[in-house]
Amino acid sequence: MSDYRILFNRPYVSGKEFEYMQEAAASGHLSGDGQFTKRCHALLEAATGTARAFLTTSCTHALEMAALLTDVGPGDEVIVPSFTFVSSVNAFVLRGAKPVFVDIRPDTLNLDERLLESAITERTKVIVPVHYAGVGCEMDAIMELANRHNIVVVEDNAHGLFGKYRGQPLGTFGALATQSFHETKNFTCGEGGALLVNDPALIERAEILREKGTNRSRFFRGMVDKYTWVDIGSSWLPSELLAAYLYAQLEQREDIQARRARIWHYYQEHLSDWACQHGVRLPIVPAHCEQPYHMYYLLLPSLNVRQALIAHLKAHGILAVFHYLPLHLSDMGMKFGGRPGDCPVTEDISDRLLRLPFYNAMTEAELAAVVEAVRSFDGWDA
Ligand SMILES: *Cc1c(COP(=O)(O)O)cnc(C)c1O
Repeated sequence: MSDYRILFNRPYVSGKEFEYMQEAAASGHLSGDGQFTKRCHALLEAATGTARAFLTTSCTHALEMAALLTDVGPGDEVIVPSFTFVSSVNAFVLRGAKPVFVDIRPDTLNLDERLLESAITERTKVIVPVHYAGVGCEMDAIMELANRHNIVVVEDNAHGLFGKYRGQPLGTFGALATQSFHETKNFTCGEGGALLVNDPALIERAEILREKGTNRSRFFRGMVDKYTWVDIGSSWLPSELLAAYLYAQLEQREDIQARRARIWHYYQEHLSDWACQHGVRLPIVPAHCEQPYHMYYLLLPSLNVRQALIAHLKAHGILAVFHYLPLHLSDMGMKFGGRPGDCPVTEDISDRLLRLPFYNAMTEAELAAVVEAVRSFDGWDA
């Protein structure tokens, strides 16, 4: 058993998950693209307005599909924030492309659109905005630049399902966008993801890549008379068991989002005065961004204070975590030329950010215990 009484994350069961899994098993179709996968696709398409949604085995795999669909390869450059999960960049590096790391905005911690122009070269093929914490990147500026330079935009929307930027759903700006249903995300089936295809010209190839490079889907729809190998590809379909679990959660999206909104606002209300007193920065959500309440973070004054607060919370049985070591300073990032000082905001934020426990079933008592423990911290001289 863990020493923690309040974990950072707990996978959620909203109610119908196991009933739907039994239904999937009883239907006699347990591999991918059965009834539950189709229901997930239809729900994601209706809720976001994307041209086509494809469930995948992870967001990482959706990013790999996206990298294939953009046709990047050796000699091409892909612009990514340094402050992100490794899959945002690995997917493109797997194709032989070179990552170009760009710093983040100090307010939203999103790719800083003001630094993009100078990072673009004639080799730039793709830009990967990551909507950090589900708060939209400055998509007006990013899309304008990308269109002007003929660059494909792939949104890593792992945090941002059902978030909006200027009223438009996140995940519908770029030609492609990726979602995650990993257990730490708002909606989950343990491991899972989705590719949103917004550019209709890419739909047919996306379907083929996901079916191991075959035209199997078109064959079953009677659109071609033989089922054969037509392109490269892999196996990126989750089983119906996972789609059934996920569908139960997506169906409950209003309830789940309301739970998360309550948690986020509880932290915000009960920590604002404390943060102000101690020079702690809380999340910033610009008025034109509608967030899907993916996480709540604190920006502490220094690395030492953050580490002391983690230890203090641990002593109270509370698990708080930090994330995203700057990718440009990782072993791989340095091989691509990353150097200290390249992304000063990322380097600074990465030392000071702390995420508080955040899960759908979190109770008021648990929230109160976290807030009380945070407020009782006195290690400011660390
Ligand atoms: C979680 C996450 C991923 C990867 O998701 P998986 O489904 O675990 O592959 C990618 N990008 C970001 C920003 C994430 O937070």
